Amino acid sequence: METKYIFVTGGVVSSLGKGIISASLACLLKARGFRVTIQKFDPYINIDPGTLNPYEHGECYVTEDGYEADLDLGHYERFTNIRTSRANNVTTGRIYQSVIDKERHGDYLGKTVQIVPHITDEIKRSVRALGSTGRFDFVITEIGGTVGDIESLPFLESVRQMRWELGGNALCIHLSYVPYIAAAKELKTKPTQHSVKQLQELGIQPDVLVLRTEKHIGQDMRSKIARFCNVAPDAVVQSIDVDSIYKVPMKMHEQHLDEIVMRKTGVPVEGEPDMAPWTSFLEKLDKAEETVHIGLVGKYVELQDAYKSIYESLFHAATYAGYKVKVRYIHSEKLRDENAGEQLDGLDGVVIAPGFGQRGIDGKFAALRWCRAQDIPTFGICLGMQCMVIEYARDVLGLEDANSTEMDSTTRHNVIDLMEEQKSITNMGGTMRLGAYECHLEPDSLAAKAYGATEISERHRHRFEFNNDYRKALEAAGMRCVGVNPVTGLVEVVEVPALRWFVGTQYHPEYSSTVLSPSPLFASFMQAAIDYRREKEQK
Ligand code: GLN
Repeated sequence: METKYIFVTGGVVSSLGKGIISASLACLLKARGFRVTIQKFDPYINIDPGTLNPYEHGECYVTEDGYEADLDLGHYERFTNIRTSRANNVTTGRIYQSVIDKERHGDYLGKTVQIVPHITDEIKRSVRALGSTGRFDFVITEIGGTVGDIESLPFLESVRQMRWELGGNALCIHLSYVPYIAAAKELKTKPTQHSVKQLQELGIQPDVLVLRTEKHIGQDMRSKIARFCNVAPDAVVQSIDVDSIYKVPMKMHEQHLDEIVMRKTGVPVEGEPDMAPWTSFLEKLDKAEETVHIGLVGKYVELQDAYKSIYESLFHAATYAGYKVKVRYIHSEKLRDENAGEQLDGLDGVVIAPGFGQRGIDGKFAALRWCRAQDIPTFGICLGMQCMVIEYARDVLGLEDANSTEMDSTTRHNVIDLMEEQKSITNMGGTMRLGAYECHLEPDSLAAKAYGATEISERHRHRFEFNNDYRKALEAAGMRCVGVNPVTGLVEVVEVPALRWFVGTQYHPEYSSTVLSPSPLFASFMQAAIDYRREKEQK
């Protein structure tokens, strides 16, 4: 079949969950056997979100091919179980960079380079780049930002042109907000009417409206909105608040969103999507009664989106284990040896978060010291793993000034150090060790048992590495290096076998955990936390 292009725009306010709606639609289409991909356009000028502070846009997600991406790509993967790549996230900065490079190269043959057609052509090329591979039946393109923003204008203009060029093979879904005015006890449609008008002024007539709401929107109100917005009444769908984002696909299916999209793009509607594995996950979620308590020690705890993929991985793991999970976010800057016991009290497992720089680092050491003393299941990820190594070198090996050269470039015991090839780099963006790398695991390690394999591949995002000069001494002191990159010999996984579950990974296993294929290492950590909890209960 010819590739169908679905554009998803948003109006009224941001944070309505365009990413979740796009991912839910993709989830349903995939469950119908279609080949689907989702792409996000971000209207900011940064080349990629890699250099953005997590306070700005939450977590930086990393694709297998090493692109530092918007966190919505994480949702796409978690909902569809389909890997994304650099082509799935494009920013205004990248579009401009590529147009300016072409201009300098003389590709425009002396023409005046303009937003229309040069920038819009580049945007359209980025959309079609996915479709033209022949690998996808549906390309869903989410336009970041809100209709009316100056920043998103070139993207919306490109959508207008593409709808014209693609005819019946293109469709526009507009996500809008229907506020509930508590004092009047009324839902209000006016913001949606205005937002659709704004879209129409830009030459885009939405085919489907998805209305974000806290209260049920009845048929009368849907018909009213349909009438005002030139949309078929059965193409007005509500997206009501639910207790888990993973319930959204079924909510969309109940209102036939997948069928509407297929019908409108000329795809015959036959049968039903196979959502059995998905609904069995949801059943587990609803059946879970007991709660497992996990601490997450990091410095961006005010903003939970900063650790989105870790939270979701913990959630997948707990749900499959039949538990609810409560994550306690613990500010590493506020942690000290004196209050670690109080701050981490009652936890069944602790995650030491990834991160950059000196701020909050001592709190991570204090947490680790306490976790080791209590023998509580502990999972160090990236910087968390590096902290495990440093703390062990200091407190067990007695190398008091052991450190990472990221924190102290003059340390005598650089147990974590810069990779040779990183030393000459001065540019900030895209210069880390990024993307998926192979790792060989020792067969008798906790990690190998968790994965059920000795050859694995996981994604990385870091500059600094375990310094192999200290491997022998650390191993003699009880910390095993059980995962090694087979090509470079770099240490990727450490464990302390004398403890219950004490594992650190230089890579980020959280990027690859999805609903249908949860991370085995998170599952193993979660089981250890649950076992530990039961043990405490029996005492
Ligand atoms: N700051 C560390 C490094 O660059 C760890 C990075 C991370 O935790 N993602 O190596």
